[in-house]
Amino acid sequence: LSSKLNGVFDRLRRRGALSEADVSEALREVRVALLEADVALPVVKDLVAKVRERAVGQEVIRSVSPAQQVVKIVNDAIVEALGGGGETPAPSGLDLSAPSPVPILMVGLQGSGKTTTSGKIALRLKNRDRKKVLLASLDVQRPAAQLQLAQLAQQAGVASLPIVPGQTPLEIAARAMDVGRRELYDVVVLDTAGRLAIDEALMGEVAAVKAQARPHETLLVVDAMTGQDAVNTARAFQERVGVTGIVMTRVDGDARGGAALSMRQITGAPIKLLGAGEKQDALEDFHPDRIAGRILGMGDIVSLVERAAETIDRDEAEKLAAKMQKGKFDLEDYASQLKQIGKMGSLSGILGMLPGVGRMKQQIEDANLDNTILKRHAAIIGSMTPKERRTPDIIKASRKRRIAAGAGTTVQEVNRLLKQFDDMSAMMKRMNKMGQKGMMRGGLA
Ligand code: GDP
Ligand code: MG
Repeated sequence: LSSKLNGVFDRLRRRGALSEADVSEALREVRVALLEADVALPVVKDLVAKVRERAVGQEVIRSVSPAQQVVKIVNDAIVEALGGGGETPAPSGLDLSAPSPVPILMVGLQGSGKTTTSGKIALRLKNRDRKKVLLASLDVQRPAAQLQLAQLAQQAGVASLPIVPGQTPLEIAARAMDVGRRELYDVVVLDTAGRLAIDEALMGEVAAVKAQARPHETLLVVDAMTGQDAVNTARAFQERVGVTGIVMTRVDGDARGGAALSMRQITGAPIKLLGAGEKQDALEDFHPDRIAGRILGMGDIVSLVERAAETIDRDEAEKLAAKMQKGKFDLEDYASQLKQIGKMGSLSGILGMLPGVGRMKQQIEDANLDNTILKRHAAIIGSMTPKERRTPDIIKASRKRRIAAGAGTTVQEVNRLLKQFDDMSAMMKRMNKMGQKGMMRGGLA
């Protein structure tokens, strides 16, 4: 795949804005990569459409090809799609903001890793959140299931609900919450039975437990290796039971992780944790960027583009700094300065590249150039003619009115910008003189 992509890169190596053709060609390869990573087709289509819209017309970053740049845009879109939704979690990564005992319900297909993950979560809640945890198995399908959980509880050093033969899952859940209340547990983890496939009996049972126990978190446990099937599982559980988060297990295997993206998109539920092995400490926090890298499998291209973009920001900033030093700073430069804001860290960041401007830098910071003003200023400069930008002195009343109208703002605002620019130019002239004096002194010494 990467040699195919390189071919695309070579053909597309040039400047300007990303064209439809650049983007389409790159996206064809990206599409294949995503499908190979087990991302579900509708999710791939969605993502590709979003990226196409975002990428076409974007300025090409020097020293990388359009195709490489598109890969980076895809990467960012995946990170964005995977992230969010896990707000204000406890150190464990779970949401525990409910009265104790906080019920956590584990759901999923048989063999997905529910019981193992219950043990891991208990250990984590104990160690990271300092919680008193009770584990309860509602699995009456397999005779050994309750014993398995009791053993895991013992390993983790937490309590498990005493086994009472013959109880239904609902009865066990009620008893677990009761013990949780009476014995002052902080969290009760309810581990349910799974089925090999989704069926109505399973869903009915899980839904009934959920309605009774009213869990604060309902975690769907899904095996990363199940690939495309993970999507159907996730959709079914979300529709029938409702989940607050997803735990993806077996990420220690060689699955590319596309299921994470599909499940996130289709259920809207955040991926909260990753299972990365059979041992109890093999539970990891979810990092969207790491999974994105794994899904796309083009990590080196992504970092290449990131480095190139940084270099350009630096280059532009240095060019501006040089112009300032020569006292040749016009409104064009001010506009490109405004573009840099947020990337490089503002005018004061650029001034920081000039020698001996500590005090000036402070003055500019004090001038309170906040972001909304900067955006407005960019719009005002945008509606000036090139000549006006180079020689602002010609901007008199009628031009001001035209510029203000074009930028959707007032003449006062235009005046304010021109005043600010004047102040800045004056300051630069002073700075320039100071610099020359400094050089003279240096020359005399
Ligand atoms: P349940 O049926 O959903 O409760 O699944 P179990 O918790 O019993 O797990 C089934 C098998 O998967 C066990 O052998 C676990 O050791 C194994 N397992 C669970 N999570 C992981 C994981 O993250 N990585 C690996 N490699 N194995 C896991
Ligand atoms: Mg189990």
